[in-house]
Amino acid sequence: MSNWAARAAELTLETRLFIDGEFRVALDGATFDSFSPRDGKLIAAISAAGAADVDLAVRAAARAFESGVWSRADRRERQRVLFRLSELMLENLDELALLESLDSGHPIGDSRRVDVPNAARTVRWYAEAIDKIYDEVAPTPQNALALVTREALGVVGAVVPWNYPLIITAWKIAPALAAGNSVVLKPAELTSLSALKLAQLAVEAGMPAGVFSVVPGLGAVAGQALGRHPLVDKITFTGSPAVGRRFLSYAGESNGKQVALELGGKSPQVVLADVEDIAACASAIAWGIFYNAGQTCHGGSRLIIDERVHDAVLTEVLAVGRSLVLGDPLDDDTQIGAIASQIQLDRVLAYTAIARDESAVVHGGNRVTVDGLSGGYFVEPTVFDRVDNAGRIGQEEIFGPVLSVSTVRGAAEAVRVANDSAYGLAASVWTANITTAHAIARELRAGTVWVNTFDVADVITPFGGFKASGSGRDRSLHAFDAYTALKTTWINLGNSPLNND
Ligand code: NAP
Ligand code: MG
Repeated sequence: MSNWAARAAELTLETRLFIDGEFRVALDGATFDSFSPRDGKLIAAISAAGAADVDLAVRAAARAFESGVWSRADRRERQRVLFRLSELMLENLDELALLESLDSGHPIGDSRRVDVPNAARTVRWYAEAIDKIYDEVAPTPQNALALVTREALGVVGAVVPWNYPLIITAWKIAPALAAGNSVVLKPAELTSLSALKLAQLAVEAGMPAGVFSVVPGLGAVAGQALGRHPLVDKITFTGSPAVGRRFLSYAGESNGKQVALELGGKSPQVVLADVEDIAACASAIAWGIFYNAGQTCHGGSRLIIDERVHDAVLTEVLAVGRSLVLGDPLDDDTQIGAIASQIQLDRVLAYTAIARDESAVVHGGNRVTVDGLSGGYFVEPTVFDRVDNAGRIGQEEIFGPVLSVSTVRGAAEAVRVANDSAYGLAASVWTANITTAHAIARELRAGTVWVNTFDVADVITPFGGFKASGSGRDRSLHAFDAYTALKTTWINLGNSPLNND
């Protein structure tokens, strides 16, 4: 086993803002403390951007955009820098993974195998796409030529949460930068370290000053300043519905900037009586909610199961839950790490009492202690069975390792209960009948529907929600639509000179 905790102690942490190509402390010297969820101990004091710092970053971004140093650079130059950034992320894989795990509580194995490679692949994928997308020629009359071209928007503000800091950041900054925009990133207060490392790597990769800035700070201060800034053309946000809606207000009250929102979910896993492979289904259900201690926006937090297979599937789900290794995020063998913060821990634990109030059958639901880490924020894999989907447990996003189980009879009731949610991010259906699978996939109101699987995804497919889960899509080539605007250039060709001879 690598001694990650010892390596963490030796890290040189960058804690300053990154603005216009330079690391610097906040103008007013303010900082905020960042703690590690593995032991609740202070990692570092991080510079807290105020409105004046955000203003500097946005103005630098706008200047860089107008100068054309990136926005009008040869596409292959943008490609070269982004390829290098992706390579550097992989060359620095261990350090990035360690920062991510220390800061967020992700198991180090996941950070090394999933988060960093996934983020690096996303950067590379969008860079590869830069010179493979063609614009359009419209079907005009003979006397005209109309070009429909995609142009970068200008300054993009990216505001991201703490649950997958690097991956979600990459989903946003990679297409935005590839398309030629300048980006100002506001990481979550709980997880700024990997974003600041990314800024270092961007410098090393040759990103021009001002094109990419990182402004850690408090949401209500730095996030709001970005949301209200008149020179920001677009906000791309992932987080809670309440804050997402604030960004709509900020936009409406400032310059009417575009806002794309990804706002979490309460994703149903629908299991019908004819499910074929109960072991595979139970394993996917357990991993679908317990992975990353349930802090996943599309986590399969609701099991909607036919009563005829309830006992068989649930017995196996509970067995998988018990078998998972819950432990120190900095241990290679850990499968379930920590909850990101004390506040989130308290929120998750509060639902155990609510479940009892709502007469659910509670399996687990407690904080647990990991050897040597008494201050850590750990919750055991938890299942609330016999949940009334209409109650708080069935409706509210818990964002912890907590599965809510509601029993139904037949496909029609299953679909009705699955769709009885304010959210619509993802869903799955488990059935041996492909016709039933298609019919149900069409009915489920969700941005992603998995059939006989869960949480398989890649940058190649779009990701985002219906209903309260938000608007806009991250990933796939469609993400370019989010960071570009269409321009029509209509050219009058007059009479053909060939007619004048
Ligand atoms: P959040 O408050 O929505 O935070 C998301 C981002 O918005 C962070 O960068 C945050 O900064 C910033 N922010 C917060 N308040 C703001 C404000 N008034 N104006 C502008 N920006 C603001 O989410 P959270 O507190 O991290 O988590 C709360 C709940 O949201 C979770 O329990 C979960 O249910 C849900 N959630 C969903 C996702 C998802 O992927 N969809 C991810 C995380 C959480 P600070 O970090 O400084 O607050
Ligand atoms: Mg932290």
